[in-house]
Amino acid sequence: KPVCIIAIGMAGSGKSTFVHRLSAHLLSKSPPAPPYLLNLDPAVANVPYDPNIDIRDTVDYHEVMKQYNLGPNGGILTSLNLFTTKFDQVLDLVEKRAETVDYVIIDTPGQIEIFTWSASGAIITDAVASALPTVVAYIVDTPRSVAPATFMSNMLYACSILYKTKLPFIVVFNKIDVEPHAFALDWMRDFEVFQESLASHQSTTDDEGAPTYMNSLMNSMSLVLDEFYKHLKSVGVSSVTGDGISEFLGVVEASREEYEKDYLPELARVR
Ligand code: GDP
Repeated sequence: KPVCIIAIGMAGSGKSTFVHRLSAHLLSKSPPAPPYLLNLDPAVANVPYDPNIDIRDTVDYHEVMKQYNLGPNGGILTSLNLFTTKFDQVLDLVEKRAETVDYVIIDTPGQIEIFTWSASGAIITDAVASALPTVVAYIVDTPRSVAPATFMSNMLYACSILYKTKLPFIVVFNKIDVEPHAFALDWMRDFEVFQESLASHQSTTDDEGAPTYMNSLMNSMSLVLDEFYKHLKSVGVSSVTGDGISEFLGVVEASREEYEKDYLPELARVR
């Protein structure tokens, strides 16, 4: 059975570039292992890869905006909703190819919350995850996460997606050609190192010498995250140079086992 990789991340984190690099890597293997690619972003002008299924072939985002009198985000969300009503057909197509492909890769809309906080996003994720071993690849813009506070809010977002989907979760530190992700690994390994960085980035006490609200908030949240870090796998990649992509595929294999061991029994239980 193929593994399905759902690429989720903030706008500009490099989802499409990552899907393209991953696909190029699989195509260059001998023998080539062409993945089955789905684009779920109705508003993207160009995708750098050639999707097998493209939401833009089914719904015209500009028409949807006009017809329902919507702004850009409403247009994207409504387009995704319309597409989701036909997702059973999409799954049929995917399942027909299940014998011949090793990877199904889903690229999600640019604005992360449109997928992660919509009914459609949940329906698509659940449908795929009950048909195939599925993992979430959470793409992080590493150069933009070097400030401790930004890093932490990005990780809290990741945390909320993990608990919502309950799927095996891989944090993909992207753009390591610009900024190596060693700092992130250090912060995730030892929360005291993180707290030290935090302290050096901002004043930790107010005029009277008491800890600032922000500082105590961040300290308690970093304790929550410490627990979260134990449950996830992470890898650094460059979607431009291809660095780290084979390592990522190794982590995907480990996540497939996790899916079979943890997610499937839970799925059977709730049914
Ligand atoms: P998306 O909105 O998450 O799909 O992001 P895109 O794939 O469109 O990428 C956003 C920008 O980041 C583009 O200008 C990409 O060229 C750039 N980018 C993506 N991955 C990398 C990377 O690994 N290294 C560098 N240097 N730039 C990257």
